[in-house]
Amino acid sequence: MAPNIKENGDNNNNGYENHLYEEQIKEFGFGTRAIHIGQEPDPNTGAVIPPISLSTTYKQYGIGIHKGYEYSRSDNPNRSAFETAIASLEKGKYALAFSSGSAVTATIITSIGTNGHIISVDDVYGGTNRYFNKVAETQGIETTFVDLHDPQDIKDAFKLNTKIVWIETPTNPTLKLVDIRAVADITHQHNAILVVDNTFMSPYFQNPLELGADIVVHSVTKYINGHSDVIMGVAIMNDQEIYNKLKFLQNAIGAIPSSFDSWLAHRGLKTLHLRMRQHQENAFKIARFLEKSDKVEQVIYPGLESHPQHSLAKKQTKGFGGMLSFRIRGGFNEANAFLQNTKLFTLAESLGGVESLAELPSKMTHAGLSEEHRNAVGVTDNLIRLSIGVEDVDDLLEDIQQALEIAVR
Ligand SMILES: *Cc1c(COP(=O)(O)O)cnc(C)c1O
Repeated sequence: MAPNIKENGDNNNNGYENHLYEEQIKEFGFGTRAIHIGQEPDPNTGAVIPPISLSTTYKQYGIGIHKGYEYSRSDNPNRSAFETAIASLEKGKYALAFSSGSAVTATIITSIGTNGHIISVDDVYGGTNRYFNKVAETQGIETTFVDLHDPQDIKDAFKLNTKIVWIETPTNPTLKLVDIRAVADITHQHNAILVVDNTFMSPYFQNPLELGADIVVHSVTKYINGHSDVIMGVAIMNDQEIYNKLKFLQNAIGAIPSSFDSWLAHRGLKTLHLRMRQHQENAFKIARFLEKSDKVEQVIYPGLESHPQHSLAKKQTKGFGGMLSFRIRGGFNEANAFLQNTKLFTLAESLGGVESLAELPSKMTHAGLSEEHRNAVGVTDNLIRLSIGVEDVDDLLEDIQQALEIAVR
């Protein structure tokens, strides 16, 4: 077969002929795009699943003449296949994959240069908070944390050198929502760009680019890969200038995912729609069950009418996801007893996998925050976070019930 040779290859496809027209692709539903975009049978062998390309370097047929790949840090077939697929799911033009969600954060923050200013929602992911406070700070970048219940609160935080507004919605672990469109409008009035960490909702339930965000980031480690066996991150955007800048840094800094991880994450992504539906169905049933329990003080789940921003959730998202938090009646001892006695829920950090996990943010994922900061955002010692998996929900309900019986007497 004649090689499909390109000069200084266009790195935006994975080297395979795509038999689907771009226009046609846009019309397909989420599940169809998840399964077909970025994935074509291998033109050399007919393999339906693309092989894992472990080669670090690629043959040039003449100097600068090759099939689209030169060196695997710059680009490789498995990474670009994954990027093509996830860009389509987030309704973006471009995607760039990284070795972790944290590497995405570091790369984006590096792109603003020294003496910049960031505005961040106050209960941002712990690792992002740490990066802003302990790493960006040493590069001369300052961060202001703002409670964004009311998007107007952000106005006073802008400075002349504000380059980025960084939000998550819902936040972790108190599941506070931020109005993406309102914050995007104010951000753009101040000539800054809006980054939305969409890890908790996944592209199945929320597409921030459509609401005015400039960059969407994900810890692929969570729902997108979905099987708790890959650490990886991705950024998705429409603006070519932002893409070029981050693509340059992706190669220059080199915090890229391996071919194997890219392949695994691409495999995981193909069932994202199925998993998210089941995560949500299970989370809803568990949220309603906990709300009725006299051993529980408060349940926080955006799908419940009792969530203070339920109407914003209905407007902004296509679903409510699989994360929920609750305050057990009592304090640390009761929470600890609950976490020691679940049989299906594993006591562990992280989220978004097929298996259910439980954790105590105040002592685990959010232990790095100051006590003052934790109290301000409501991360108390009786707040338990659940990542609801896709097991049979009756088994999960029974597990929660028996652990509550033991923990709260
Ligand atoms: C896990 C997580 C991150 C960091 O991603 P890693 O892949 O662990 O580096 C960032 N944001 C959110 C919301 C997360 O849950």
